[in-house]
Amino acid sequence: MKQRREIAFAVTQPLGRLAKWLRLLGFDTLYEPEVSAVVFKKRCQKGILLTRSKRSAESEEASEEALMLNYVEADHINQQLQTVAAAMSLKAFDLKPFSRCIRCNAPIEKVDKMHLKSMVPDHIWETHENFSRCTQCHRVYWPGSHTDRSRNIIQKIFNPHDTKTHRSTP
Ligand SMILES: [Zn+2]
Repeated sequence: MKQRREIAFAVTQPLGRLAKWLRLLGFDTLYEPEVSAVVFKKRCQKGILLTRSKRSAESEEASEEALMLNYVEADHINQQLQTVAAAMSLKAFDLKPFSRCIRCNAPIEKVDKMHLKSMVPDHIWETHENFSRCTQCHRVYWPGSHTDRSRNIIQKIFNPHDTKTHRSTP
């Protein structure tokens, strides 16, 4: 089993959607739309800067690790992910899908469903056994709460043999 690399990203506007996807894949991903890319990068040294701004990508702070995504249409999330995956040589074993809150980047942890009775829709509570909750914003996740589309994209972009972390409901 290969060692999973610890890869962190710092994502600038307008790549918020990409930031959410990177979190969904399990990467530590900072995204602060209000802060300029340079200031942002100074504050998060470990993150690899993803930007659509040529100036930011070429700035000293960004170093050679900055990936310029301004040739990718903002709407085409598949292409953005593919660009990042190719540039970073990401493989399926680098991913830890559905381990991080897509809203606030904090890790999510398993939680006893008995604690969640009033926090998820009844039919979800009744038909699922495994729930996780964000350690920071307390958003609740369960297998199937991620759309088929996320799984499809993961399968398409990364090695399809190693992404069985979550499945849809049986
Ligand atoms: Zn959260």
